[in-house]
Amino acid sequence: MARLLKCQYCGKKDVFTEETMVKHENVTSTGKTQNKYFHKECYEPFKKEQAKKQAESKRLDKLVQMAGSIHELEKSESGSYILPRMWYHTIQDWRNGTQRYTMNFKKKYKKGIPYQVLTEAYKQSQDAIKWSKLNKNFDSVKSEIRYGMAIVNNKIPDAMKKLKQEKMLKEKNEKTEKDRIEMMELERDVNYKDVKKDSEDMTDILGDW
Ligand SMILES: [Zn+2]
Repeated sequence: MARLLKCQYCGKKDVFTEETMVKHENVTSTGKTQNKYFHKECYEPFKKEQAKKQAESKRLDKLVQMAGSIHELEKSESGSYILPRMWYHTIQDWRNGTQRYTMNFKKKYKKGIPYQVLTEAYKQSQDAIKWSKLNKNFDSVKSEIRYGMAIVNNKIPDAMKKLKQEKMLKEKNEKTEKDRIEMMELERDVNYKDVKKDSEDMTDILGDW
């Protein structure tokens, strides 16, 4: 009997053959290995999507790290800072670009502010948050964090600007580096041609002997 397997990317069921499908070993967070199956043509997009998700979750980790260290929060057994649920809700809304307070709000996905920008906004809010921690009598960690988020919210435009500038500078440097390499290659070609030309000239002279 032919085995019908569901492609984990497009969701269609198909007969497994070595030529058409790929077996992917997936290790779960608990360390178990599961076999997942994909059409050959669905495997690349799946891997790309997975890499994107992993990068995104790393960026969120960095943001948690930044916010947690500024607020000097407690850490869980796994070593990451414990932030309240409302913090995650607001961060997700910022990340997804969800505006809950407008009419007919729709949930969007990853259309808002990137985590890197939020991390940068926290970094730029560091002094103000630490000051508020010392000078305002917050009745709970939650209200301290909520106050911190209001500061961070105001810093988002500056943070966005800074990261954009950094990106542009990086691209410019990369372009310069590319130009330099191209120039070197060009020079090498020219030198090579010159040498070749010289030796040809020499054979012209020596050739008659
Ligand atoms: Zn598929």
